[in-house]
Amino acid sequence: MSSIEVAIPKQGFVVAIDGPAGTGKSSVTRRLADVLGFTHIDTGALYRALAYLLARQHVDFEAHPEEAVKLARSVHLEFKRQPEKNPANRIFADGKDVTEHIRTPEVSMKASRVSSIPGVRAALLGLQRRLGCVGRAILEGRDIGTVVFPDADAKFFLTASVDERAKRRLAELEAAGKDAPSFEEVKHQIAARDQADSTRATAPLKKAEDAVEVDTSEMTLDEVVSSMEASIRARIGLQLRGKKK
Ligand code: C5P
Repeated sequence: MSSIEVAIPKQGFVVAIDGPAGTGKSSVTRRLADVLGFTHIDTGALYRALAYLLARQHVDFEAHPEEAVKLARSVHLEFKRQPEKNPANRIFADGKDVTEHIRTPEVSMKASRVSSIPGVRAALLGLQRRLGCVGRAILEGRDIGTVVFPDADAKFFLTASVDERAKRRLAELEAAGKDAPSFEEVKHQIAARDQADSTRATAPLKKAEDAVEVDTSEMTLDEVVSSMEASIRARIGLQLRGKKK
């Protein structure tokens, strides 16, 4: 599938949230989806699920990128909300819940590598657009405001210092009871992923020109969420007023 073929017109309000790892995108998007009553679509989970499946099948996708493209085109990925579980937003691959397997540092690095394969990105683009185009959707990722929904109704680009992001990622790993690497190692992994994500040829991580940049380094989660919520509600209000005229 090419990006031209899958350009489905969106039918309602879509919010795009992009930015590098550890800027608080997931927590912010989850909270905003709750307060606004929007569907949360974590597009990173799609690349992670693919990376996990490839590793489980022992596929060397750097030597054989066509294998990754084949899987991206054939696997059935879907999100399901299961409020009794933590996290409630689950990702299923061919009917199997893989949520618990996709947050390891190894899968993070592999997801970054697999996401640089143009055919993989093309295969996942249609799915992301189908999920979001019904509206009242909030998507987080790297290229939502630039490629997936360049006509999103509200766009944000979250940033934070590498030190702050490494601190947050370490706390997350520790809270999840995972074997946490050292602070320096986490910092190194984050910087390596930033470098790979922002220098790849297809859909690199970059701020859309019309995205609002939010530096979360010195802000609490509540502060980030309330300032973004206010900005989204103002835009929804503007659209409604525009329609009434
Ligand atoms: O957001 P998260 O850290 O879960 O994403 C994992 C990896 O998936 C990122 O490092 C990035 O390489 C890739 N990704 C992407 N485009 C997106 C979302 C994630 O390339 N829209």
